[in-house]
Amino acid sequence: MITFTGAGPGAEDLITVRGQNLLKEADVVIYAGSLVNPGLLSLCREDCEIYNSAKMTLEEVIAVMTEGERSGKRIVRLHTGDPCLYGAIREQMDELEKLDIPYEVCPGVSSLCGAAAALGAEYTLPGVSQSVVITRMAGRTPVPKRESIPSFAAHQATMVIFLSAGMLEELSDELIRGGYAADTPAAIVYKATWPEEKVLHCTVKELAKTAARENVTKTALIVVGRILGDEYERSKLYDPSFTTEFREVSAPSGKDKER
Ligand code: SAH
Repeated sequence: MITFTGAGPGAEDLITVRGQNLLKEADVVIYAGSLVNPGLLSLCREDCEIYNSAKMTLEEVIAVMTEGERSGKRIVRLHTGDPCLYGAIREQMDELEKLDIPYEVCPGVSSLCGAAAALGAEYTLPGVSQSVVITRMAGRTPVPKRESIPSFAAHQATMVIFLSAGMLEELSDELIRGGYAADTPAAIVYKATWPEEKVLHCTVKELAKTAARENVTKTALIVVGRILGDEYERSKLYDPSFTTEFREVSAPSGKDKER
């Protein structure tokens, strides 16, 4: 059995309990070397075989999985954050399907959430934005044309931009071209939840300058939108004049009707 496992955004204690148990029991671990905290590997048994996938091709990863599966080993494929975002898991799963090797997924805390925690931000703020666009600039990996940054910027929804810290001049231009005002609040979160985390507040226009000042060139998320500003509406859910499934306007506050 292969388990694609989310390692979390960085801090060693931000892996799930299930992920931790999987690592403790694993006979083979293939980890995404560049972003997974190596400290997590200390959970593994002494005799666990450990591979760094940063130095491997898809074919080599599948070969290790196939060999391990043949010997009845428990294999953990450890991906940074949550494997569902930019994890290149689908191509691995499809190869495993072809080989009739079973697999499952253990989710993790994405850097999407790690960055929000570092910022103390709510991405979906009433009266400001109720949607989050997760995207990236086109780099060596292309992005479909219909998913261009300006086309998303036109919505004025919260945007969280991965894999783009090296292209901030272009990113600013595209955000502004799409309709974000140059002074829209933005943030750069470098290595969220790692000891060396940096949280840099700026505006859409100042992204490149801000990153350059702090020497941030990679391992960062860019968050854009007025959720980083001061204005919003309070929620309906906790509004005293709003009845919900669990709380009526006239009900005395505090005591739970149902837990
Ligand atoms: N699956 C991962 C994303 C992998 S893509 C997840 O769920 O987080 C790698 C990109 O994710 C990096 O280039 C960077 O943009 C972002 N990233 C990963 N870890 C990060 C962290 N701790 N802080 C900020 N950005 C991070």
